[in-house]
Amino acid sequence: MKFQNTAVIGAGTMGIGIAHVMGSCGCKVTLIDVKQEFLDRALKTIQKNLERQLKKEKITEEQLKETLANINPSTNIEDAAGADFVIEAATENPDIKFDLFRKLDEICNPQVIIATNTSSISITEIAAKTKRPDKIIGMHFMNPVPMMQLVEIIRGLAASDESFNITEQFAKDLGKTPVLANDYPGFIANRILLPMINEAVYCLMEGVGTKEAIDTVMKLGMAHPMGPLTLADLIGLDVCLSIMEVLHQGLGDSKYRPCPLLKKMVAAGHLGRKTGIGFYDYRQ
Ligand code: NAD
Repeated sequence: MKFQNTAVIGAGTMGIGIAHVMGSCGCKVTLIDVKQEFLDRALKTIQKNLERQLKKEKITEEQLKETLANINPSTNIEDAAGADFVIEAATENPDIKFDLFRKLDEICNPQVIIATNTSSISITEIAAKTKRPDKIIGMHFMNPVPMMQLVEIIRGLAASDESFNITEQFAKDLGKTPVLANDYPGFIANRILLPMINEAVYCLMEGVGTKEAIDTVMKLGMAHPMGPLTLADLIGLDVCLSIMEVLHQGLGDSKYRPCPLLKKMVAAGHLGRKTGIGFYDYRQ
């Protein structure tokens, strides 16, 4: 493992998973968030996920302890200073990301690659906020990170071959399968997935089929592990809508217009599993 001293910025859903995987591969990880309570919650979740792996005999007691010992929480962004590779996984908000990259650019050694896990913000634009645009790269992990094999590696316009090669090797060292994507809205994964989900919502809105029928067709007919409406509830309908808006604005093609029913559900606060109701009801 080339990188021994990493930093992960943001201890939410994705930061937790990324820190878990890096810690279990022997990297020291400084896990940074804005509040101690978010870090406490993150460490609890990592411990619970490791205990589940231990129960299934996927890891040993020793590996559980080593992984936890490798993850050091901090509320101070300056603690990223000693890192030899940084992955930013903070809230999906352009202003938060731009501000973080300006700060990280000041704090980190100029040789260090700073990757972002953004799902939809332009890597080229993030890179332009720094003095090292050749060393800013997208590293788009999938949720849940410890289970999912894929990492999309996204090259902004200024990313160097060297940065790409180093990041690709690092993803492999973390046991993942990297795939190169160029920097266009939605990259590859969301450019294909979200229009499919949006079309499923149109099918529901127009009465082409019931939610169960739409999900069953895609599961049994296309061998998808879950139907698109079930998946939308899992991702969060607000996240689905915001990615469709990025595709629509960024690509300027009306085929990416978000379905009115998707907009209505978000307006009603029916965001899927996280609010207890989306296309399906999870409240019992
Ligand atoms: P989340 O809301 O669960 O967590 C984000 C965390 O970032 C929060 O704990 C928040 O307190 C923290 N944060 C905000 N500002 C910060 C700052 N200035 N410094 C440090 N921490 C800060 O979000 P998430 O779902 O983990 O998503 C994180 C990133 O990963 C986003 O860019 C998102 O697009 C991307 N992503 C998410 C998924 C997914 O399925 N959730 C999948 C792939 C990529």
